[in-house]
Amino acid sequence: MTTTKERMEQIAESLQPFTFGKVQDAVTMMLKAKRVGLTLEDLVEYTDWVVGIRQAEIDVDRSRANLKLTAWLKHGPKCPHCGQPLSVRALPPKGKANVKGYASQFFCQSGNCTYEEFSMTPREVIVGNVYRAAENARGR
Ligand SMILES: [Zn+2]
Repeated sequence: MTTTKERMEQIAESLQPFTFGKVQDAVTMMLKAKRVGLTLEDLVEYTDWVVGIRQAEIDVDRSRANLKLTAWLKHGPKCPHCGQPLSVRALPPKGKANVKGYASQFFCQSGNCTYEEFSMTPREVIVGNVYRAAENARGR
């Protein structure tokens, strides 16, 4: 014969990864769902549906990021030393760390190549120009 205390401890053990607050929220939600005629299957279908939409959004973001990366690699500036695509980063405003006030820095990350070049053109402008060039190339 199990006591109430033992039974409650078994329930707590079964719901192990969830905090008491989460369990309370789930109970509140289940009671509300029951009141409006929703089943556990409806709730599973709903959460799967939302997860599916979020995954689709992540996939779209990834494919956009991939398109941008591909555009950069194909149409972006190349290293004059080794011919590999250069990376570009924004620099801090003019000051101790950026005495001449450059807006951006191109740098090569290929092997041991240490080529770098500074520019007064902001990174967003450089990147935007490359993406536009890639779109124009695709449009042709
Ligand atoms: Zn290089």
